[in-house]
Amino acid sequence: MKQEYDAVVVGAGFAGMHMLWKLRQMGMSAIVVEKGSDVGGTWYWNRYPGARCDVPSLDYSVPWDPELDQEWDWSERYSAQPEILKYATHLADRHDFRKDIKFNTRVNRATWDEARTLWVVETDQGDTFEARYFISGAGALSEPNLPDIPGIRSFKGEMYHTGQWPSEPVTLAGKRVAVLGTGSTGVQATTAIAKEADHLYVLQRTAQFSLPCHTPPLTEADHAKLRVRYPEHREWQRNSYAATASTIEMPFGARAFDDPKETRFENYETAWNNGSAALVGVYGDVSINAEVATEVSDFVRDKIRATVKDQAVAEKLCPRPGSYIGTRRIIIDTGYYQIFNQPNVTLIDIHSDPITEITENGVKTQNTFCKIDMLVVATGYDAVTGPLLSMNITGKDGVQLKDAWADAPRTYLGVMVAGFPNMFTITGPSSPGVLANVIYSIDQHVNWISDCLENMHQTGAIEIDTTPEAEAEWNAHTFETCSGSLRMNDENNWYLGTNVPGKARAVLVYQGGLGFYKEKCDEIAADNYRGFVFNYDQEKETA
Ligand code: NAP
Repeated sequence: MKQEYDAVVVGAGFAGMHMLWKLRQMGMSAIVVEKGSDVGGTWYWNRYPGARCDVPSLDYSVPWDPELDQEWDWSERYSAQPEILKYATHLADRHDFRKDIKFNTRVNRATWDEARTLWVVETDQGDTFEARYFISGAGALSEPNLPDIPGIRSFKGEMYHTGQWPSEPVTLAGKRVAVLGTGSTGVQATTAIAKEADHLYVLQRTAQFSLPCHTPPLTEADHAKLRVRYPEHREWQRNSYAATASTIEMPFGARAFDDPKETRFENYETAWNNGSAALVGVYGDVSINAEVATEVSDFVRDKIRATVKDQAVAEKLCPRPGSYIGTRRIIIDTGYYQIFNQPNVTLIDIHSDPITEITENGVKTQNTFCKIDMLVVATGYDAVTGPLLSMNITGKDGVQLKDAWADAPRTYLGVMVAGFPNMFTITGPSSPGVLANVIYSIDQHVNWISDCLENMHQTGAIEIDTTPEAEAEWNAHTFETCSGSLRMNDENNWYLGTNVPGKARAVLVYQGGLGFYKEKCDEIAADNYRGFVFNYDQEKETA
Protein backbone atom coordinates (compact mmCIF):
# COMPACT_ATOMS: atom_id res chain seq x y z
CA MET A 1 0.00 0.00 0.00
CA LYS A 2 1.22 3.47 -0.90
CA GLN A 3 1.70 5.82 2.04
CA GLU A 4 2.50 9.53 1.86
CA TYR A 5 4.62 11.62 4.20
CA ASP A 6 6.54 14.86 4.14
CA ALA A 7 9.76 12.93 4.75
CA VAL A 8 11.12 9.40 4.76
CA VAL A 9 14.05 9.07 7.15
CA VAL A 10 16.36 6.06 7.06
CA GLY A 11 17.74 4.66 10.31
CA ALA A 12 16.58 4.91 13.91
CA GLY A 13 19.94 5.59 15.51
CA PHE A 14 20.82 8.94 17.03
CA ALA A 15 20.57 10.59 13.58
CA GLY A 16 17.15 9.22 12.68
CA MET A 17 15.68 9.92 16.11
CA HIS A 18 17.01 13.47 16.16
CA MET A 19 15.68 14.13 12.63
CA LEU A 20 12.27 12.72 13.55
CA TRP A 21 12.13 14.89 16.66
CA LYS A 22 12.96 17.97 14.62
CA LEU A 23 10.49 17.18 11.81
CA ARG A 24 7.73 16.71 14.37
CA GLN A 25 8.60 20.08 15.88
CA MET A 26 8.23 21.62 12.43
CA GLY A 27 4.82 20.05 12.04
CA MET A 28 5.95 17.69 9.29
CA SER A 29 4.91 14.07 8.92
CA ALA A 30 7.64 11.45 8.72
CA ILE A 31 8.22 7.73 8.67
CA VAL A 32 11.54 6.27 9.80
CA VAL A 33 12.62 3.01 8.17
CA GLU A 34 14.86 0.89 10.39
CA LYS A 35 16.30 -2.54 9.61
CA GLY A 36 16.68 -3.48 13.30
CA SER A 37 13.88 -4.42 15.67
CA ASP A 38 14.44 -1.37 17.87
CA VAL A 39 16.21 2.00 17.98
CA GLY A 40 19.92 2.54 18.69
CA GLY A 41 21.70 2.18 15.32
CA THR A 42 25.36 1.39 15.91
CA TRP A 43 24.59 0.58 19.52
CA TYR A 44 21.78 -1.75 18.55
CA TRP A 45 23.96 -3.72 16.13
CA ASN A 46 27.34 -3.69 17.88
CA ARG A 47 26.54 -5.92 20.86
CA TYR A 48 29.82 -7.74 20.64
CA PRO A 49 31.64 -8.37 23.94
CA GLY A 50 33.67 -5.36 25.01
CA ALA A 51 31.90 -2.77 22.80
CA ARG A 52 32.45 0.65 24.26
CA CYS A 53 32.41 4.27 23.10
CA ASP A 54 35.66 6.21 22.75
CA VAL A 55 33.96 9.54 23.54
CA PRO A 56 33.33 10.39 27.22
CA SER A 57 29.74 9.65 28.24
CA LEU A 58 29.05 13.17 29.50
CA ASP A 59 29.88 14.45 26.01
CA TYR A 60 28.24 11.56 24.14
CA SER A 61 24.74 12.70 25.08
CA VAL A 62 22.19 14.48 22.91
CA PRO A 63 21.98 18.28 23.07
CA TRP A 64 18.30 18.45 22.09
CA ASP A 65 16.80 17.11 25.31
CA PRO A 66 18.26 19.37 28.04
CA GLU A 67 15.89 17.98 30.69
CA LEU A 68 17.45 14.57 30.18
CA ASP A 69 20.90 16.01 30.91
CA GLN A 70 19.54 16.89 34.34
CA GLU A 71 18.11 13.41 34.95
CA TRP A 72 20.40 10.89 33.31
CA ASP A 73 23.33 9.40 35.25
CA TRP A 74 26.13 7.76 33.29
CA SER A 75 27.95 5.11 35.28
CA GLU A 76 31.50 5.50 33.94
CA ARG A 77 33.70 7.85 31.92
CA TYR A 78 33.47 5.81 28.69
CA SER A 79 30.17 3.98 28.46
CA ALA A 80 29.87 0.40 27.35
CA GLN A 81 27.37 -0.55 24.64
CA PRO A 82 24.50 -1.76 26.92
CA GLU A 83 24.36 1.59 28.71
CA ILE A 84 24.33 3.63 25.49
CA LEU A 85 21.63 1.38 24.03
CA LYS A 86 19.62 1.91 27.23
CA TYR A 87 20.02 5.67 26.77
CA ALA A 88 18.87 5.45 23.13
CA THR A 89 15.82 3.33 23.99
CA HIS A 90 15.01 5.72 26.84
CA LEU A 91 14.98 8.60 24.35
CA ALA A 92 12.57 6.60 22.16
CA ASP A 93 10.30 5.94 25.18
CA ARG A 94 10.34 9.55 26.36
CA HIS A 95 9.47 10.96 22.96
CA ASP A 96 7.23 8.13 21.81
CA PHE A 97 9.35 7.74 18.68
CA ARG A 98 8.45 4.14 17.90
CA LYS A 99 4.98 5.00 16.59
CA ASP A 100 6.67 6.69 13.60
CA ILE A 101 9.27 3.98 12.97
CA LYS A 102 8.85 0.96 10.71
CA PHE A 103 11.17 -1.65 12.27
CA ASN A 104 12.61 -4.81 10.71
CA THR A 105 12.46 -3.07 7.35
CA ARG A 106 15.16 -2.26 4.81
CA VAL A 107 15.05 0.25 2.00
CA ASN A 108 15.28 -1.74 -1.23
CA ARG A 109 15.02 1.17 -3.62
CA ALA A 110 14.61 4.95 -3.50
CA THR A 111 13.68 6.71 -6.74
CA TRP A 112 13.20 10.39 -7.49
CA ASP A 113 9.96 11.06 -9.35
CA GLU A 114 10.76 14.22 -11.25
CA ALA A 115 7.21 14.82 -12.51
CA ARG A 116 5.70 14.66 -9.04
CA THR A 117 8.69 16.16 -7.14
CA LEU A 118 8.86 13.38 -4.62
CA TRP A 119 10.79 10.32 -3.59
CA VAL A 120 9.33 6.84 -3.93
CA VAL A 121 10.87 4.58 -1.32
CA GLU A 122 10.29 0.84 -1.55
CA THR A 123 11.13 -1.58 1.24
CA ASP A 124 11.79 -5.28 1.58
CA GLN A 125 8.49 -5.54 3.47
CA GLY A 126 6.49 -4.45 0.44
CA ASP A 127 5.90 -0.85 1.57
CA THR A 128 5.93 2.05 -0.83
CA PHE A 129 6.46 5.33 0.97
CA GLU A 130 6.20 8.58 -0.98
CA ALA A 131 7.63 11.78 0.41
CA ARG A 132 8.85 15.19 -0.66
CA TYR A 133 12.11 14.63 1.22
CA PHE A 134 14.36 11.58 1.57
CA ILE A 135 16.77 11.88 4.48
CA SER A 136 19.43 9.30 5.23
CA GLY A 137 20.44 8.78 8.83
CA ALA A 138 21.79 5.35 7.95
CA GLY A 139 25.12 6.07 9.62
CA ALA A 140 28.70 5.88 8.44
CA LEU A 141 29.64 2.51 9.87
CA SER A 142 26.67 0.25 9.27
CA GLU A 143 27.50 -1.69 6.11
CA PRO A 144 29.86 -4.56 7.03
CA ASN A 145 33.06 -5.13 5.06
CA LEU A 146 33.10 -8.93 4.77
CA PRO A 147 36.39 -10.66 3.96
CA ASP A 148 36.56 -12.77 0.84
CA ILE A 149 38.72 -15.59 2.17
CA PRO A 150 38.77 -18.96 0.36
CA GLY A 151 36.53 -21.44 2.12
CA ILE A 152 34.89 -18.96 4.53
CA ARG A 153 31.43 -20.14 3.57
CA SER A 154 32.33 -23.72 4.39
CA PHE A 155 33.01 -22.93 8.04
CA LYS A 156 30.59 -24.97 10.14
CA GLY A 157 31.11 -23.31 13.52
CA GLU A 158 29.53 -20.11 14.78
CA MET A 159 30.50 -17.03 12.79
CA TYR A 160 29.56 -13.46 13.66
CA HIS A 161 30.46 -10.09 12.18
CA THR A 162 30.79 -7.76 15.17
CA GLY A 163 28.37 -5.27 13.59
CA GLN A 164 25.68 -7.95 13.34
CA TRP A 165 26.16 -9.53 16.73
CA PRO A 166 23.15 -11.59 17.85
CA SER A 167 20.87 -10.16 20.52
CA GLU A 168 20.58 -13.51 22.25
CA PRO A 169 23.52 -14.45 24.52
CA VAL A 170 26.57 -15.98 22.82
CA THR A 171 28.44 -18.51 24.93
CA LEU A 172 32.21 -18.19 24.80
CA ALA A 173 33.17 -20.38 27.74
CA GLY A 174 34.64 -23.70 26.71
CA LYS A 175 35.10 -22.57 23.10
CA ARG A 176 38.09 -22.00 20.83
CA VAL A 177 37.56 -18.65 19.21
CA ALA A 178 39.41 -16.69 16.50
CA VAL A 179 39.02 -12.94 16.05
CA LEU A 180 39.86 -11.65 12.57
CA GLY A 181 40.81 -7.97 12.60
CA THR A 182 42.57 -5.75 15.09
CA GLY A 183 40.96 -2.32 14.59
CA SER A 184 38.95 -0.55 17.31
CA THR A 185 36.38 -3.33 17.23
CA GLY A 186 38.78 -6.28 17.10
CA VAL A 187 40.85 -4.93 19.99
CA GLN A 188 37.78 -4.39 22.18
CA ALA A 189 36.27 -7.79 21.31
CA THR A 190 39.57 -9.60 21.78
CA THR A 191 40.14 -8.07 25.22
CA ALA A 192 36.71 -9.19 26.40
CA ILE A 193 36.67 -12.62 24.71
CA ALA A 194 40.09 -13.52 26.16
CA LYS A 195 38.49 -13.46 29.62
CA GLU A 196 35.98 -16.19 28.76
CA ALA A 197 37.06 -18.31 25.83
CA ASP A 198 38.88 -21.56 26.29
CA HIS A 199 41.41 -20.42 23.72
CA LEU A 200 41.60 -17.26 21.64
CA TYR A 201 43.50 -16.79 18.36
CA VAL A 202 44.02 -13.16 17.40
CA LEU A 203 44.43 -12.94 13.64
CA GLN A 204 46.34 -9.71 13.07
CA ARG A 205 47.16 -8.41 9.59
CA THR A 206 48.22 -4.91 10.64
CA ALA A 207 49.23 -4.05 14.19
CA GLN A 208 47.75 -0.75 15.34
CA PHE A 209 48.38 1.63 18.22
CA SER A 210 46.01 1.05 21.11
CA LEU A 211 45.84 3.36 24.11
CA PRO A 212 44.49 2.62 27.58
CA CYS A 213 41.07 4.20 28.02
CA HIS A 214 40.89 4.41 31.83
CA THR A 215 37.22 4.51 32.59
CA PRO A 216 36.64 5.29 36.27
CA PRO A 217 33.09 5.36 37.66
CA LEU A 218 31.39 8.75 37.36
CA THR A 219 30.29 10.15 40.68
CA GLU A 220 27.36 12.38 41.61
CA ALA A 221 29.91 15.18 41.93
CA ASP A 222 31.08 14.64 38.32
CA HIS A 223 27.50 14.99 37.12
CA ALA A 224 26.73 17.94 39.43
CA LYS A 225 29.71 19.89 38.11
CA LEU A 226 28.37 19.74 34.56
CA ARG A 227 24.65 19.96 35.41
CA VAL A 228 24.99 23.60 36.37
CA ARG A 229 26.55 24.47 33.04
CA TYR A 230 25.25 21.94 30.52
CA PRO A 231 23.76 24.58 28.16
CA GLU A 232 27.12 26.36 27.85
CA HIS A 233 28.97 23.05 27.56
CA ARG A 234 26.68 21.78 24.79
CA GLU A 235 27.10 25.08 22.93
CA TRP A 236 30.86 24.82 23.32
CA GLN A 237 30.72 21.26 21.93
CA ARG A 238 28.72 22.41 18.90
CA ASN A 239 31.41 24.92 17.98
CA SER A 240 34.53 23.01 18.96
CA TYR A 241 36.88 20.89 16.84
CA ALA A 242 35.58 17.46 17.83
CA ALA A 243 32.76 18.14 20.34
CA THR A 244 34.76 16.62 23.14
CA ALA A 245 37.66 17.94 25.17
CA SER A 246 41.02 16.24 25.47
CA THR A 247 41.77 14.71 28.85
CA ILE A 248 45.01 16.70 28.89
CA GLU A 249 45.29 20.47 28.70
CA MET A 250 48.03 21.83 26.46
CA PRO A 251 48.37 25.28 24.89
CA PHE A 252 46.48 25.26 21.57
CA GLY A 253 48.74 24.24 18.68
CA ALA A 254 51.78 23.57 20.91
CA ARG A 255 54.66 22.13 18.84
CA ALA A 256 56.51 19.18 20.26
CA PHE A 257 60.06 20.21 19.47
CA ASP A 258 59.61 23.60 21.15
CA ASP A 259 59.84 21.59 24.39
CA PRO A 260 62.99 19.80 25.58
CA LYS A 261 63.00 16.01 25.35
CA GLU A 262 62.47 15.55 29.08
CA THR A 263 59.34 17.75 29.07
CA ARG A 264 57.99 16.03 25.98
CA PHE A 265 58.30 12.59 27.54
CA GLU A 266 56.72 13.82 30.79
CA ASN A 267 53.79 15.06 28.71
CA TYR A 268 53.54 11.75 26.82
CA GLU A 269 53.53 9.89 30.13
CA THR A 270 50.80 12.14 31.56
CA ALA A 271 48.71 11.70 28.41
CA TRP A 272 49.18 7.92 28.49
CA ASN A 273 48.10 7.84 32.14
CA ASN A 274 45.10 10.09 31.47
CA GLY A 275 44.07 7.65 28.78
CA SER A 276 42.07 7.78 25.57
CA ALA A 277 43.27 9.84 22.62
CA ALA A 278 45.11 12.42 24.77
CA LEU A 279 48.46 11.19 23.46
CA VAL A 280 47.54 12.14 19.89
CA GLY A 281 46.47 15.63 20.92
CA VAL A 282 49.30 16.24 23.32
CA TYR A 283 51.03 18.41 20.71
CA GLY A 284 49.36 20.09 17.75
CA ASP A 285 51.83 18.61 15.25
CA VAL A 286 51.59 14.89 16.06
CA SER A 287 49.33 14.32 13.05
CA ILE A 288 51.40 16.32 10.56
CA ASN A 289 55.06 16.10 11.54
CA ALA A 290 56.56 12.67 10.80
CA GLU A 291 59.43 13.18 13.26
CA VAL A 292 57.07 14.02 16.13
CA ALA A 293 54.71 11.21 15.15
CA THR A 294 57.63 8.78 15.12
CA GLU A 295 58.68 9.83 18.63
CA VAL A 296 55.14 9.42 20.01
CA SER A 297 54.68 6.15 18.11
CA ASP A 298 57.94 4.80 19.53
CA PHE A 299 56.79 5.84 23.00
CA VAL A 300 53.78 3.53 22.56
CA ARG A 301 55.94 0.75 21.07
CA ASP A 302 58.03 0.89 24.25
CA LYS A 303 54.87 0.59 26.34
CA ILE A 304 53.90 -2.52 24.36
CA ARG A 305 57.37 -4.04 24.93
CA ALA A 306 57.13 -3.26 28.64
CA THR A 307 53.67 -4.86 28.94
CA VAL A 308 53.98 -8.04 26.88
CA LYS A 309 56.36 -10.53 28.48
CA ASP A 310 57.19 -12.57 25.38
CA GLN A 311 59.30 -10.12 23.36
CA ALA A 312 58.72 -11.97 20.09
CA VAL A 313 54.97 -11.45 20.56
CA ALA A 314 55.55 -7.83 21.66
CA GLU A 315 57.45 -7.11 18.44
CA LYS A 316 54.59 -8.47 16.35
CA LEU A 317 52.15 -6.27 18.27
CA CYS A 318 54.26 -3.17 17.57
CA PRO A 319 52.96 -1.33 14.50
CA ARG A 320 55.41 -1.64 11.63
CA PRO A 321 58.09 1.06 11.19
CA GLY A 322 56.76 3.92 9.09
CA SER A 323 53.24 3.71 10.50
CA TYR A 324 52.26 6.61 12.69
CA ILE A 325 49.95 6.95 15.62
CA GLY A 326 46.70 8.77 14.82
CA THR A 327 46.56 8.14 11.08
CA ARG A 328 43.78 5.66 11.79
CA ARG A 329 41.01 6.18 14.31
CA ILE A 330 42.72 5.88 17.66
CA ILE A 331 41.90 2.65 19.49
CA ILE A 332 41.18 2.72 23.19
CA ASP A 333 41.29 -0.45 25.24
CA THR A 334 40.78 -1.86 28.68
CA GLY A 335 43.88 -4.05 28.90
CA TYR A 336 44.50 -5.27 25.34
CA TYR A 337 48.26 -5.81 25.41
CA GLN A 338 47.99 -7.52 28.83
CA ILE A 339 45.91 -10.39 27.43
CA PHE A 340 48.89 -11.60 25.42
CA ASN A 341 50.45 -12.69 28.74
CA GLN A 342 47.57 -15.14 29.22
CA PRO A 343 48.22 -18.79 28.33
CA ASN A 344 44.86 -19.03 26.48
CA VAL A 345 45.74 -16.30 23.94
CA THR A 346 47.79 -16.79 20.75
CA LEU A 347 48.71 -14.04 18.32
CA ILE A 348 48.83 -15.11 14.68
CA ASP A 349 50.56 -12.58 12.45
CA ILE A 350 48.67 -13.09 9.19
CA HIS A 351 50.81 -10.45 7.49
CA SER A 352 53.92 -12.69 7.59
CA ASP A 353 51.92 -15.94 7.74
CA PRO A 354 48.84 -15.29 5.55
CA ILE A 355 45.57 -17.19 5.81
CA THR A 356 45.34 -19.65 2.93
CA GLU A 357 41.91 -21.07 3.67
CA ILE A 358 39.12 -21.28 6.17
CA THR A 359 38.01 -24.87 6.52
CA GLU A 360 34.88 -26.29 8.10
CA ASN A 361 36.54 -26.28 11.52
CA GLY A 362 39.38 -23.82 11.51
CA VAL A 363 41.73 -21.30 9.97
CA LYS A 364 44.66 -22.48 7.88
CA THR A 365 47.64 -20.18 7.40
CA GLN A 366 50.79 -20.92 5.44
CA ASN A 367 52.48 -22.27 8.58
CA THR A 368 49.78 -23.30 11.00
CA PHE A 369 46.21 -24.47 11.56
CA CYS A 370 43.94 -23.15 14.34
CA LYS A 371 41.04 -25.43 15.14
CA ILE A 372 38.14 -23.25 16.25
CA ASP A 373 34.48 -23.34 17.25
CA MET A 374 33.78 -19.68 16.55
CA LEU A 375 35.03 -17.06 14.09
CA VAL A 376 34.51 -13.43 15.08
CA VAL A 377 34.77 -11.23 12.01
CA ALA A 378 35.94 -7.75 13.05
CA THR A 379 36.90 -6.58 9.58
CA GLY A 380 35.16 -3.21 9.73
CA TYR A 381 32.88 -1.43 7.33
CA ASP A 382 32.29 -0.20 3.84
CA ALA A 383 32.26 3.16 5.53
CA VAL A 384 30.27 6.31 4.81
CA THR A 385 29.26 5.52 1.21
CA GLY A 386 28.34 1.83 1.77
CA PRO A 387 25.09 2.47 3.66
CA LEU A 388 23.92 4.97 1.01
CA LEU A 389 24.84 2.78 -1.95
CA SER A 390 23.06 -0.22 -0.41
CA MET A 391 19.72 1.55 -0.91
CA ASN A 392 19.73 1.56 -4.77
CA ILE A 393 19.12 5.28 -5.03
CA THR A 394 18.12 6.74 -8.40
CA GLY A 395 18.03 10.50 -8.94
CA LYS A 396 17.19 12.81 -11.85
CA ASP A 397 17.19 11.39 -15.39
CA GLY A 398 17.41 7.87 -14.04
CA VAL A 399 21.01 8.32 -12.82
CA GLN A 400 21.93 5.88 -10.10
CA LEU A 401 23.99 7.00 -7.12
CA LYS A 402 26.42 4.11 -7.69
CA ASP A 403 27.13 5.45 -11.19
CA ALA A 404 27.34 9.07 -10.07
CA TRP A 405 29.94 7.93 -7.53
CA ALA A 406 31.71 5.37 -9.73
CA ASP A 407 35.02 7.28 -9.54
CA ALA A 408 34.56 8.67 -6.04
CA PRO A 409 31.76 10.10 -3.92
CA ARG A 410 30.98 13.76 -4.53
CA THR A 411 28.75 15.86 -2.30
CA TYR A 412 28.16 19.47 -1.47
CA LEU A 413 28.85 20.07 2.25
CA GLY A 414 28.48 16.32 2.76
CA VAL A 415 24.76 16.85 2.86
CA MET A 416 23.53 16.85 -0.77
CA VAL A 417 24.44 15.17 -4.06
CA ALA A 418 23.95 16.94 -7.42
CA GLY A 419 21.14 15.35 -9.40
CA PHE A 420 19.49 13.89 -6.30
CA PRO A 421 17.05 16.68 -5.35
CA ASN A 422 15.49 16.80 -1.90
CA MET A 423 17.79 14.03 -0.67
CA PHE A 424 19.84 14.87 2.43
CA THR A 425 22.64 12.74 3.82
CA ILE A 426 23.19 13.14 7.57
CA THR A 427 26.95 12.62 8.20
CA GLY A 428 27.42 12.00 4.47
CA PRO A 429 30.78 11.85 2.64
CA SER A 430 33.00 14.93 3.10
CA SER A 431 31.36 16.06 6.34
CA PRO A 432 32.95 15.68 9.81
CA GLY A 433 30.89 12.57 10.66
CA VAL A 434 32.61 10.25 13.08
CA LEU A 435 35.85 12.25 13.04
CA ALA A 436 34.08 14.40 15.64
CA ASN A 437 31.78 13.19 18.41
CA VAL A 438 29.16 11.92 15.97
CA ILE A 439 26.18 13.01 18.08
CA TYR A 440 27.30 16.60 17.44
CA SER A 441 28.03 16.04 13.75
CA ILE A 442 24.46 14.76 13.56
CA ASP A 443 23.17 17.74 15.55
CA GLN A 444 24.78 20.18 13.13
CA HIS A 445 23.38 18.38 10.07
CA VAL A 446 19.88 17.98 11.50
CA ASN A 447 19.75 21.67 12.43
CA TRP A 448 21.14 22.77 9.09
CA ILE A 449 18.72 20.56 7.11
CA SER A 450 15.76 21.73 9.23
CA ASP A 451 16.66 25.39 8.72
CA CYS A 452 16.94 24.70 5.00
CA LEU A 453 13.50 23.04 4.92
CA GLU A 454 12.06 25.96 6.89
CA ASN A 455 13.62 28.37 4.41
CA MET A 456 12.09 26.42 1.51
CA HIS A 457 8.71 26.55 3.21
CA GLN A 458 8.99 30.31 3.73
CA THR A 459 10.09 31.01 0.16
CA GLY A 460 7.75 28.54 -1.51
CA ALA A 461 10.52 26.34 -2.91
CA ILE A 462 9.48 22.76 -3.57
CA GLU A 463 12.83 21.36 -4.67
CA ILE A 464 16.46 21.84 -3.73
CA ASP A 465 19.44 20.48 -5.63
CA THR A 466 23.12 21.32 -5.91
CA THR A 467 25.49 21.50 -8.87
CA PRO A 468 28.60 19.57 -9.99
CA GLU A 469 30.53 22.87 -9.74
CA ALA A 470 29.57 23.33 -6.07
CA GLU A 471 30.51 19.70 -5.41
CA ALA A 472 33.89 20.12 -7.12
CA GLU A 473 34.64 23.19 -5.03
CA TRP A 474 33.66 21.38 -1.83
CA ASN A 475 35.69 18.35 -2.80
CA ALA A 476 38.77 20.54 -3.32
CA HIS A 477 38.17 22.22 0.04
CA THR A 478 37.77 18.82 1.75
CA PHE A 479 41.14 17.75 0.34
CA GLU A 480 42.62 21.02 1.56
CA THR A 481 41.50 20.22 5.14
CA CYS A 482 43.76 17.20 5.19
CA SER A 483 46.70 18.41 3.17
CA GLY A 484 49.85 17.68 5.13
CA SER A 485 48.08 15.09 7.29
CA LEU A 486 50.11 11.90 7.72
CA ARG A 487 46.81 10.02 7.35
CA MET A 488 46.90 10.63 3.60
CA ASN A 489 49.80 8.15 3.23
CA ASP A 490 48.11 5.37 5.20
CA GLU A 491 46.99 2.12 3.60
CA ASN A 492 43.72 0.26 4.26
CA ASN A 493 42.17 3.23 5.99
CA TRP A 494 38.38 3.49 6.08
CA TYR A 495 38.59 7.29 6.30
CA LEU A 496 39.96 7.08 2.74
CA GLY A 497 37.85 4.16 1.55
CA THR A 498 41.00 2.11 1.01
CA ASN A 499 40.03 -0.62 3.51
CA VAL A 500 37.59 -2.13 1.00
CA PRO A 501 39.20 -3.87 -2.00
CA GLY A 502 38.27 -2.06 -5.21
CA LYS A 503 36.67 0.95 -3.49
CA ALA A 504 37.63 4.34 -4.89
CA ARG A 505 40.10 6.33 -2.81
CA ALA A 506 38.54 9.53 -1.49
CA VAL A 507 38.53 11.78 1.55
CA LEU A 508 35.37 10.46 3.14
CA VAL A 509 35.55 12.61 6.24
CA TYR A 510 36.04 16.37 6.48
CA GLN A 511 39.09 17.06 8.61
CA GLY A 512 38.84 20.79 9.27
CA GLY A 513 36.97 20.30 12.54
CA LEU A 514 33.27 20.45 13.38
CA GLY A 515 33.25 24.12 14.50
CA PHE A 516 34.97 25.33 11.35
CA TYR A 517 32.71 23.17 9.19
CA LYS A 518 29.62 24.57 10.94
CA GLU A 519 30.83 28.12 10.25
CA LYS A 520 31.23 27.27 6.55
CA CYS A 521 27.76 25.70 6.31
CA ASP A 522 26.16 28.65 8.12
CA GLU A 523 27.98 31.15 5.94
CA ILE A 524 26.77 29.36 2.78
CA ALA A 525 23.17 29.32 4.07
CA ALA A 526 23.39 33.02 4.96
CA ASP A 527 24.65 33.74 1.44
CA ASN A 528 21.31 32.67 -0.05
CA TYR A 529 22.29 29.01 0.04
CA ARG A 530 25.20 29.57 -2.34
CA GLY A 531 25.79 26.51 -4.52
CA PHE A 532 22.23 25.21 -4.11
CA VAL A 533 19.51 25.50 -6.73
CA PHE A 534 15.83 25.87 -5.83
CA ASN A 535 12.74 25.16 -7.87
CA TYR A 536 9.61 27.19 -7.12
CA ASP A 537 7.36 25.64 -9.75
CA GLN A 538 4.07 25.67 -7.88
CA GLU A 539 2.19 24.43 -10.91
CA LYS A 540 4.27 21.30 -10.84
CA GLU A 541 3.47 20.89 -7.17
CA THR A 542 -0.26 20.71 -7.80
CA ALA A 543 0.02 18.70 -11.04
P1 NAP B 1 38.68 -1.17 10.97
O1 NAP B 1 39.27 -0.08 11.76
O2 NAP B 1 38.47 -0.96 9.52
O3 NAP B 1 39.56 -2.47 11.23
C1 NAP B 1 39.32 -3.63 10.48
C2 NAP B 1 40.34 -4.68 10.85
O4 NAP B 1 40.08 -5.84 10.09
C3 NAP B 1 41.78 -4.28 10.53
O5 NAP B 1 42.61 -4.84 11.49
C4 NAP B 1 42.00 -4.91 9.16
O6 NAP B 1 43.35 -5.19 8.87
C5 NAP B 1 41.25 -6.20 9.33
N1 NAP B 1 40.82 -6.75 8.05
C6 NAP B 1 39.96 -6.21 7.16
N2 NAP B 1 39.80 -7.03 6.10
C7 NAP B 1 40.60 -8.09 6.33
C8 NAP B 1 40.86 -9.27 5.61
N3 NAP B 1 40.28 -9.54 4.42
N4 NAP B 1 41.73 -10.17 6.13
C9 NAP B 1 42.30 -9.92 7.33
N5 NAP B 1 42.10 -8.83 8.07
C10 NAP B 1 41.24 -7.92 7.57
O7 NAP B 1 37.22 -1.59 11.54
P2 NAP B 1 36.69 -1.53 13.04
O8 NAP B 1 37.69 -2.07 13.98
O9 NAP B 1 35.34 -2.13 13.03
O10 NAP B 1 36.56 0.00 13.34
C11 NAP B 1 35.89 0.85 12.41
C12 NAP B 1 35.54 2.14 13.09
O11 NAP B 1 34.42 1.95 13.94
C13 NAP B 1 36.60 2.70 14.01
O12 NAP B 1 37.63 3.32 13.32
C14 NAP B 1 35.77 3.64 14.84
O13 NAP B 1 35.51 4.83 14.17
C15 NAP B 1 34.48 2.86 15.00
N6 NAP B 1 34.53 2.13 16.28
C16 NAP B 1 34.57 2.87 17.40
C17 NAP B 1 34.65 2.25 18.61
C18 NAP B 1 34.72 3.08 19.82
O14 NAP B 1 34.07 4.10 19.91
N7 NAP B 1 35.49 2.71 20.77
C19 NAP B 1 34.68 0.88 18.71
C20 NAP B 1 34.64 0.14 17.54
C21 NAP B 1 34.57 0.77 16.33
P3 NAP B 1 44.23 -4.15 8.01
O15 NAP B 1 44.49 -3.03 8.95
O16 NAP B 1 45.41 -4.91 7.61
O17 NAP B 1 43.37 -3.72 6.86
